[in-house]
Amino acid sequence: MGEFELIERHFVRATPRAALGPGDDCALLAPAPGQALAITSDMLLEGRHFLATVPPARLGHKALAVNLSDLAACGAKPLAFTLALSLPRADEAFAAALAQGLFALADAHGIELVGGDTTAGALSLCITAIGEVPAGGALLRNGARAGDQLWVSGCLGDARLALEVFRGHAALAAADFEAVRLAMECPQPRVALGLALRGLATSAIDLSDGLLGDLGHILRRSRVGARLELAALPCSAVLAAQPRALREECLLRGGDDYELLFTAPAARAAEVRAAGAAAGVAVTPIGLIGAAPDLVLVDEDGREGLAAARGFDHFA
Ligand code: ADP
Ligand code: MG
Repeated sequence: MGEFELIERHFVRATPRAALGPGDDCALLAPAPGQALAITSDMLLEGRHFLATVPPARLGHKALAVNLSDLAACGAKPLAFTLALSLPRADEAFAAALAQGLFALADAHGIELVGGDTTAGALSLCITAIGEVPAGGALLRNGARAGDQLWVSGCLGDARLALEVFRGHAALAAADFEAVRLAMECPQPRVALGLALRGLATSAIDLSDGLLGDLGHILRRSRVGARLELAALPCSAVLAAQPRALREECLLRGGDDYELLFTAPAARAAEVRAAGAAAGVAVTPIGLIGAAPDLVLVDEDGREGLAAARGFDHFA
């Protein structure tokens, strides 16, 4: 099977919402009047972003999910995406499963694959997702203000716990491992929450490189500091049962959470809770923004310390 047959068979579907879908030199989209386009790319490389053991349907899901998570963090509504795919060979079963996971998530969000590129090579996927947000209405990293509450969606650290099990650094019962593996391989982008936070959150970011590092991006861009309560961090029962050092590492520095971290004025806490309820995801207050530029971490025993707001860095 050749390149064009593989694309036609597995990746080209009807795209009634796009002005022009795959098959020509460019796709065409027509944004609604008054809307800005939100555009984001994330690539996944085998051995760096995923393990060879990942089922291909989950890989297709995750490649799109991490991009939708970036749109969610901006409060953008997803419209369409492109897929640049590199595959070692034209493996029918692999391509079919990959496409199944990819399109299941695309369909859940009502978005279309409008184009891409396909080449032979080491397995990698690069998706560019396109969304729309009212001009001037995007959630950004630079709007946190002293006195705002700091919130996070869902629960943190399970993806990192799964990675530690794959690395042989931790062991879990089979059902617990399946649960955290699902968090690592099938993250749920918080798109509905991002939309519900428009006009309410003062800043937002999605958590991909660990809580401390991603919080650091908000603090630096907003020129503020924060006081973070470790005991308040939302965590699954499986992670809660782990030894303290591992649990803290997963919660504070674990990557791949794809939850939203955001700030909102303290007086609007009830509206934030209502936004979470409307979006069907838990939202938890985990600290406060302060004027001084430090990140103060309050540990489970109430002891305070200064934390380094650094996350995962591919070149560090
Ligand atoms: P060009 O050489 O003009 O860049 P290609 O030959 O790479 O075009 O691709 C042909 C068409 O197939 C284009 O419209 C492109 O968007 C689409 N396409 C290629 N790969 C994919 C893919 N993985 N998923 C969806 N569409 C794709
Ligand atoms: Mg091309």
